Amino acid sequence: MIIDSHCHIDFDAFDDDRAQVIQRANQAGIKKIIIPGVINDTWDKIISCCNEFTGLYPCFGLHPYFTNKHQPQHLLNLKNYLDKHKPVAVGECGLDFFLKDLDEHQQRFYFEQQLDIALEFNLPVVIHARKSTEAVIKAIKKRPGLRGMIHSYSGSYEQALQLIKLGFYLSFGGPVTYEKSTRLRKMLQKLPLDSVLVETDAPDQPPVSAKNNRNEPLFILDVIESIASLHNSSTETISSITSKNAGDLFKLNKV
Ligand SMILES: [Zn+2]
Repeated sequence: MIIDSHCHIDFDAFDDDRAQVIQRANQAGIKKIIIPGVINDTWDKIISCCNEFTGLYPCFGLHPYFTNKHQPQHLLNLKNYLDKHKPVAVGECGLDFFLKDLDEHQQRFYFEQQLDIALEFNLPVVIHARKSTEAVIKAIKKRPGLRGMIHSYSGSYEQALQLIKLGFYLSFGGPVTYEKSTRLRKMLQKLPLDSVLVETDAPDQPPVSAKNNRNEPLFILDVIESIASLHNSSTETISSITSKNAGDLFKLNKV
């Protein structure tokens, strides 16, 4: 069994063929998909996707890309959704210092608030960290007991070890399939597998075999193959360890 730990299957890119995409994934052994929420207005669509298909698990959160769409009211609404709909995590939230036109102060406000909410509700948190790993580590350190994952991890090996020590999982997707991602692949080679998750981030971040096309959960097989070869392991082993990790983090066996 394989778990796609981060996939935006609710996005419009899948409106025409969502059922087929999910079926293709299921047939290949990808039985569970975690859907992160990005803005207040999409949470209902995530809920309806999860009602329509089995094996989909919701998260609700406010993504840093969309800070101009977030309002403080959405944080209250988030608490209501957590209460009412029992998602598996809070997120996708985080900090993106790569895109220069995003207001850093606003990003930090929504990120820190969501970390506090995750702690309050005893839920793991799904974090987007681009060019911001140091700031993310600082925010996590301030909140002992917080659990979660860094999606599409791109920080350093040293930072990875710090995050693992803090109880976080590191998730990897399409970028590890590119030979030119030498820094990322070298780092991944050294990481203990019991802290690693696999994801697609579909429809974004396609693997090299689907370069420039829409990504989809099925393509997680490429990610697993790359990790297996980097770790001199089998795809079966990588699938089972990463599924166990995701199951533990999101408490999927209880859901
Ligand atoms: Zn995402």
